[in-house]
Amino acid sequence: MFKASLPRHARLGNVVCRQLSTFSCVRPLRLQSLQSSGQQLSASRTPLRSVCLRSIATRLYSSEAAAARQQDANPDAKAGSQLITKFADLSQLGVHPALVSAITDGMRYEDMTDVQSLTINPALRGTDLVAQAKTGTGKTLAFLVPTLQRLLAEIPELADRRSSRRASSDDVKAIIMSPTRELAEQIGVEAKKLVRNTGIVVQTAVGGTRKRESLMKMQREGCHILVATPGRLEDLLSDEYSGVAAPNLKAFVLDEADRMLDVGFSDAIRNILDLLPPVSKVDRQTLLYSATIPRNVVHLAKSLVKTNNFEFVQTISADDAPTHERVPQYIVPCKGYENWFPAIMEIAEKAREAAENDPSVAPFKAMVFFSNTAVVEFAYSTFSNTKLGGFSGVPIWDIHSKLNQPQRTRHADAFRRSKTGILFSSDVTARGMDFPGVTHVIQVGLPPDRDQYIHRVGRTGRAGASGEGWLLLAEPEIAEARARLPGLPIKPNRSLVTPAVDLATGQIPEETARYFNDVEKGYSKTRSGEFAQAYHSLLGQKFGRKLDVADAVELLNRWSEYGLKREQVPAITPQSASKRGLARIPGVRIGHDTEQSYGRDDRFGGRGGSGGRGGFGDRGGSDSRGGNRGGNRGGNRGGNRGGNRRGNSFEDKFASRESNDRQSFSRSSF
Ligand code: ADP
Ligand code: MG
Repeated sequence: MFKASLPRHARLGNVVCRQLSTFSCVRPLRLQSLQSSGQQLSASRTPLRSVCLRSIATRLYSSEAAAARQQDANPDAKAGSQLITKFADLSQLGVHPALVSAITDGMRYEDMTDVQSLTINPALRGTDLVAQAKTGTGKTLAFLVPTLQRLLAEIPELADRRSSRRASSDDVKAIIMSPTRELAEQIGVEAKKLVRNTGIVVQTAVGGTRKRESLMKMQREGCHILVATPGRLEDLLSDEYSGVAAPNLKAFVLDEADRMLDVGFSDAIRNILDLLPPVSKVDRQTLLYSATIPRNVVHLAKSLVKTNNFEFVQTISADDAPTHERVPQYIVPCKGYENWFPAIMEIAEKAREAAENDPSVAPFKAMVFFSNTAVVEFAYSTFSNTKLGGFSGVPIWDIHSKLNQPQRTRHADAFRRSKTGILFSSDVTARGMDFPGVTHVIQVGLPPDRDQYIHRVGRTGRAGASGEGWLLLAEPEIAEARARLPGLPIKPNRSLVTPAVDLATGQIPEETARYFNDVEKGYSKTRSGEFAQAYHSLLGQKFGRKLDVADAVELLNRWSEYGLKREQVPAITPQSASKRGLARIPGVRIGHDTEQSYGRDDRFGGRGGSGGRGGFGDRGGSDSRGGNRGGNRGGNRGGNRGGNRRGNSFEDKFASRESNDRQSFSRSSF
């Protein structure tokens, strides 16, 4: 059974720490432990490191505070107030009993996570907040509690359950924005649990679902709190016939702000801001959460919060290792792509056996990431026809952009609830999604960049639990991976037998035969054209200095010939080949496949789509995901860190963020 306790070590980043916080052990804390699936909590409690916070550990970064800082060297000067760390004690801060009991009795949480205690306290005072917090640390409750309390304080009748009848969609009181549909839905579910004893009505509006239906629901039931993705929100607010408006908006929350900018939502956010009442006329509280605070997030924050009165709360400690440094990570060199699926199967089988033989080992629950949707589809289709997928007690699901939203939600929910299983995923779930009990994150093929690699790894080891990361690469891809993933604690792992098998020799060692045979059976049952689509999409993957398209052609052709035992590799149409500069690459078969039209040309572009949009700062469009980023960033950071901490501009308030980003990359160790 999987149990985890949330880390309680609440030391802040160096700078903040030095200036303000004082920590000491006053009394041991006990923390509610989490159980793997569903929302059920274990009745047992896990004692934790006795760490307590005595004084408030946030830094007031208003101009006022900055001035005070200069005058007063006493680090605790402004930090007199007591920090609440138990949900039950929120009543002392005036939080409505209905909310408190929904948490303590309904959700059965007793102690706050660090992020919660560090941000709920100041947010309840009503100031705007920019908070740097990792995923998996309980941010959702951290912003929901103050947001809901604000509504209850300003509109007391909302505490009465009957007031829900008077809710109306053209008077939304709070908006919560999240970068992905799944995350928005997850937040919606959590919010509904919190408001169950009140009259507050929560609605979720995300792209991909039938807009008319959700709109009618919203009009019928009304809406006080709208949880939405930026695109759909912009759509609703700008459509004067939607009946959705927020003329009296009291609270505005941005979750995962860095991700929102990464995926190219900066225009949408800008437009949304224009559609909201100006803060000068209708006062609202803004809470912005972000795992990293790069320059574009600082710029975004500047356009959102009250620049002369906000707090920057850093909840990431310099020595509280981020997930990607804590979780053991392995790179598995594979002879070729044809070894990928057998290797996944071997990892699954070994982990399953380990859990069966030792009750203290958590049941195998894995997310398997590919960078291309077509490969996810092919993998899912293959594994659906293998023992792993079919009969041996490890259920599998897929999730990617080609599924419609209800399917995606269904698959995500089923995986979330299941104790064991595999979710084959594209990057739609890489960030922010909370699947309890994930023991393995398996990345197959080159990750697009270092950030994405880290976010995927972050799907395991959540809420203090243990987990492991695996990266399966063909040998020729390793040099490129080394360049793309500097400074990560990834170690070569040769404990598996399937990756080293060279199918080109025609020799399959006996102990591995069952994996290869099972996968081969799986391949043979995939739909016609599925492999070709995967093949085409991998030809369009991001290349780099150490890996080019000719290398990929060789790897793909090996997979086709020795893995799938195909006589011919998938064809590429002459037009497409010339358009993509593939015409002269050895091994590319120019022509037409008869089975089915293999892949569309647009697959080659990967997921470029929304590049080129203007952004808040220097990293706006999603096309900028290139490998450059790591390098540039390292450079900038180094520079900033050296000096530049003088001055009192808006940006200067965030200077301490640098201490925690740990972006001065060392060489990779694999
Ligand atoms: P984040 O948004 O930071 O990624 P979540 O809000 O999704 O994190 O929370 C991560 C997990 O921890 C969720 O399963 C949530 O229900 C659980 N959780 C949140 N707060 C607490 C708490 N105070 N005690 C125990 N579990 C918590
Ligand atoms: Mg979250």
